[in-house]
Amino acid sequence: MTSLLNKSRPPVFCPGCGYDLILHALDKSFQNMGLQGNQIAMVSDIGCSGLFDTFFNTHALHGLHGRALTYAAGLKLARPELQVVTTMGDGGLGIGGAHLLAACRRNLDMTLLILNNFNFGMTGGQFSATTPPQATVGSGFLNALERPMDAGTVVAAAGAPFVARASAYQKDLSALLEQAIRFEGFSVIDILGVCPGRYLKQNKLTPKLIDQILRESEPLDGCVTKNARSEYGRCYREQAARQKVASPPAKVVPRFDPPQSGRQEVIFLGAAGQRILTAGEVLCIAGLTAGLKITQKNEYNITVLRGPSISELILSPEEIDYTGIINPAVVIALAPDGVTRRKDMFAQLNQNTLVLQVSGVKIPSTQAQVVPVDFKAQGIKKSDWALAALATLAGMNKVLTCQMLDAALEERFKGDTLKGISELLEKVMGQK
Ligand code: SF4
Repeated sequence: MTSLLNKSRPPVFCPGCGYDLILHALDKSFQNMGLQGNQIAMVSDIGCSGLFDTFFNTHALHGLHGRALTYAAGLKLARPELQVVTTMGDGGLGIGGAHLLAACRRNLDMTLLILNNFNFGMTGGQFSATTPPQATVGSGFLNALERPMDAGTVVAAAGAPFVARASAYQKDLSALLEQAIRFEGFSVIDILGVCPGRYLKQNKLTPKLIDQILRESEPLDGCVTKNARSEYGRCYREQAARQKVASPPAKVVPRFDPPQSGRQEVIFLGAAGQRILTAGEVLCIAGLTAGLKITQKNEYNITVLRGPSISELILSPEEIDYTGIINPAVVIALAPDGVTRRKDMFAQLNQNTLVLQVSGVKIPSTQAQVVPVDFKAQGIKKSDWALAALATLAGMNKVLTCQMLDAALEERFKGDTLKGISELLEKVMGQK
């Protein structure tokens, strides 16, 4: 097989950089596996390790610092047939540690090469997650205050089923890389090398010293038996295939004429528990029965059963490009919470706006046409006032008609719920 190295962009690392050896070992492993460039996706992090994807004639994805594994995971799930290989330095290892742990727990069939040279080489030799405390680095004494991370031990503890330590200088590195890429599951190799451009300027580190570090570390040379399990992507696809297929969204057939022409804006000003959003949804469906375009914007506190609940609806025969309220046709004042939240709006309203004011709810001074309603006196529960307001509007032939409301209720509710709500709204409209 031929090399997959990119002839138009030859590798450019500092002379003597360990990354150069790793790059060629990786190319050799691709060749030994008989892989074509279009069968591989190289995903890289930031830093000198982030140059790797540009040096190969493969698919490539260069991401944010520490996040390369997140892109790699999405890519592998979307394109399981690709061999996904991620390169990340010890800088990205520290910055994206949580993503590394998630990848170990998940066990997608992809390979991570940690290009570990004990410092942030590209940015000036600052200390990284693996810098020894006694090293002299570009960030002063900070590395002396932290314990370096043993990446191999951490990923094995986090559940990676294939973990190995390696030296950039070992003769059989390409064979180990091939073993990791062929492994079905998440494979990680922590590859130690030197950074002459930065780290070696003030620290001694040689291939022999790297061998000594490896000899003194807990041995990790491939499969971690206790972490052996099924590959995530295959299980995911099997589980997903067993899920019930979501039914297509209901289609509302346009069949009525709206009572007014042009854009109609409606605001419900209520409180949590008044089914404001449901009433807004019913009005939207009613609009659809008249062939109108609709938007609904809701505002409510994150806490439940407390505070204002507001819904802004637009019904229009034209496309709705701007979903803000410009000139409301109707404001429905259902609770002090909602009215207080939009109190400044009332001074801007003109006589063209109809305000339905529920008994007991004070509103600021306004030029709008105010119509009082007393749902409580009609024996209607507070939680039904928003729906009752729709019935009031339908009875006035304002924004929606009785036919539009009935049809919307039939689309939105079923069985006893539909029966109960229909009876309630008929009572409001005075049809019973
Ligand atoms: S700065 Fe260090 S890691 Fe980067 S290319 Fe130079 S020697 Fe290699």
